[in-house]
Amino acid sequence: MLDNLTQRLAKVVKTMRGEARLTEANTAEMLREVRLALLEADVALPAVREFIGKVKEKALGEEVVGSLSPGQALVGVVQRELGALMGADLGPEATQLSFAQQPPAIILMAGLQGVGKTTTVGKLAKYLREQKKKKVLTVSADVYRPAAIAQLQSVTGQAGADFFPSTAQDKPVDIALAALDWAKKHYHDVLIIDTAGRLGIDEEMMKEITAVHGAVKPIETLFVVDAMLGQDAINTAKAFNDALPLTGIVLTKLDGDSRGGAALSVRHITGKPIKFAGVSEKLDGLEAFDPTRMANRVLGMGDILALVEEARKGVDEKAAAELAAKVKAGGKFDMNDFKAQLGQMKKMGGMAGLVDKLPAQFQQAAGNANMDQAEKQVRRMVGIIDSMTPAERAKPDLIKAARKRRIAAGAGVQVQEVNRMLNQFEQMQTMMKKLQGGGLMKMMRSMKG
Ligand code: GDP
Repeated sequence: MLDNLTQRLAKVVKTMRGEARLTEANTAEMLREVRLALLEADVALPAVREFIGKVKEKALGEEVVGSLSPGQALVGVVQRELGALMGADLGPEATQLSFAQQPPAIILMAGLQGVGKTTTVGKLAKYLREQKKKKVLTVSADVYRPAAIAQLQSVTGQAGADFFPSTAQDKPVDIALAALDWAKKHYHDVLIIDTAGRLGIDEEMMKEITAVHGAVKPIETLFVVDAMLGQDAINTAKAFNDALPLTGIVLTKLDGDSRGGAALSVRHITGKPIKFAGVSEKLDGLEAFDPTRMANRVLGMGDILALVEEARKGVDEKAAAELAAKVKAGGKFDMNDFKAQLGQMKKMGGMAGLVDKLPAQFQQAAGNANMDQAEKQVRRMVGIIDSMTPAERAKPDLIKAARKRRIAAGAGVQVQEVNRMLNQFEQMQTMMKKLQGGGLMKMMRSMKG
């Protein structure tokens, strides 16, 4: 995600940190690097100018020059200003969805065709249902493409939300009003309205969505923009922002190999907060956007919070709770439990996915090759456990030399590897005893707190 920008900025940040003395000359040189990195990532010129101007002003001010480690203080300034560029200056509330409307709270989606609007409706429906416990209804006002209506029906089904059918013969405003009426009668908390997108800005389209907006008065009007679009994104954002009172932005396809900077300027151009980021084609690929965290990530400082969240998401809470209860009740931690824990590790999005969120310097240290190795290692360990008999799994003490040889042959590994694995198992067992009841979930919680 924003890989190029991240790599370049991480390098400048490293230089900055090392500077014991800041002069006008070396500050200018470092800021030139930052400026180039942003421009190259497609951040719009006015946004870059404003950003550099603010950093310069603060960098040459008392707090940086007078501080004990001016380099570090300068990094702090860049970090804060980049966060501000991404929307941190709007306050933490700004990125939240508002539901302050007589139910249902209406969310109107706007944006060009192909940017990921319909997918985002599915993601939002899932997020609102699962994380916010809302009863959600979706409807498509895209009367030009029957396929779009069918696609919305499909993603809504996958999200476990309700779908209000519409047809190409209906008028968008009528569709929206009928869905609203239905949502009220069936006590939905949220109604999400998907709209028709065109390939470019089009007056008819603007009129139509403005009419829908006027008819249902949504509490949220989200502009969906594709991070891969480059500078075009900025013009589109401007046109939509002029036509509609947008309340927020959804950046999609941030997982792609894009420069992404244009999308970041969208927030600057519209003055509206980025509320969500789309990070995969799947329905769980939606992240609440946090400007400060994003800025840190881009500066190569990693996103530890996202890492912990990811790990928590991957962990099957029910399985972990069952295991905890078992250990607490004096039950023994056996090979089956060990295997389940290895499985949890795999579920945490794979180690490579986790490493992506580590600070840049750790990422380099970890290196992709090592991550592959680590994943292979986990697979091999699972293979070894699979070669054990149920009795051995329940009572690993049974495993002596002859059995070890049989297990090694079954898993296609050396006996040493079986030994290593048994050692690791014992360590885990000891740790489980120590944790007495908290287990994995306790570890995760302590990471968070
Ligand atoms: P719409 O025309 O704006 O409704 O766009 P769609 O929702 O049909 O999405 C267009 C394409 O983008 C589809 O192939 C989606 O799977 C893909 N897509 C949407 N959001 C994301 C995302 O966050 N990441 C990636 N990689 N693909 C996405």
